[in-house]
Amino acid sequence: MQMSFESVFLKAKQGEELSKEDIVCLLSADEHEQKALFELADEMRYKNHGDVVHLRGIIEFSNYCKRDCHYCGLRRSNDKIERYRMEIDELIEAAAGVKKMGFRTVVLQSGEDMWYSAERLSKVISAIKRDGNTAVTLSIGERTEGEYRLLKKSGADRFLLKHETSDGELFKRLRPGTDLKTRLECLKTLKKLGYQIGSGNIIGLPGQTLGSIAEDILIFKKLNADMIGIGPFIPHPNTPLKYSNRGSLELTLKTLAVTRLVLPKANLPATTALATLHPAGYELALSCGANVIMPNLTPMKFKSRYQIYPKKAGSDLEALKLTEKILNIINSMGRKAA
Ligand code: SF4
Repeated sequence: MQMSFESVFLKAKQGEELSKEDIVCLLSADEHEQKALFELADEMRYKNHGDVVHLRGIIEFSNYCKRDCHYCGLRRSNDKIERYRMEIDELIEAAAGVKKMGFRTVVLQSGEDMWYSAERLSKVISAIKRDGNTAVTLSIGERTEGEYRLLKKSGADRFLLKHETSDGELFKRLRPGTDLKTRLECLKTLKKLGYQIGSGNIIGLPGQTLGSIAEDILIFKKLNADMIGIGPFIPHPNTPLKYSNRGSLELTLKTLAVTRLVLPKANLPATTALATLHPAGYELALSCGANVIMPNLTPMKFKSRYQIYPKKAGSDLEALKLTEKILNIINSMGRKAA
């Protein structure tokens, strides 16, 4: 049955459950319809989160990765990248700097770098948690249940592991040696261990369909994800997808808005990838459902080397300047940083 945007929009407005077909219909919104969609998502964000924009400081502590994902500049086959790995003490010191700037969440992010064992990471987490009022989020990829357990025991609070795409075949093709089922199992294990979990997807992967984006949103819901990162695909010149088109700004924003309607309580970041795709990316995302920004506070000497995609927004700014810029954006929109 062909459904009209108006009828699905009304369903969403009344908080009714949306089917895959409903979601595809909303993702297909034309320019006029998308305006209404963004306004509704913004309203929903306000109702559930008020005007607060949560800031979470990221430190990208290693760009080594054992994986070979076709869309990522950190892939192990990229021999043009200058690899780095912060020392344990250096990382603890960088996290202390982030806390000193007033951030109450430190996000530790890396490629799948096995040098950083759960034991080594535990030392870092324990040091960060010593003050008793900082949350630690990990974004380090797929590990064993035992490792996730140890990291939780050391104090980690949250874990980000984007499922990237709900299309199992596409997942396998773009992430050789891994599969969607294992990824989703990891997320379930993390949840079982008591982590707040974050997932996310990439909009515009070659071969992706609106149907698979709708499935992504239904997976976020099924996982009851606390945080959902939605960013456009941006091709990296040293990857097999270098000649592919970028993801669309409109479709990324529509996915964000529909995700807000389906998961009103979730934390949705205005992603750096969106800010890289469009100079007003943060503002646009904050206007259609986003309520979080995660400034990249990696020390300057490493920052430009963490290139999942090129020319990442903010990679030329040191921590204080970038934070100031983001605070200005938040204030200029009448929102409050927390
Ligand atoms: S997407 Fe993640 S796992 Fe894949 S190559 Fe990049 S950093 Fe490694």
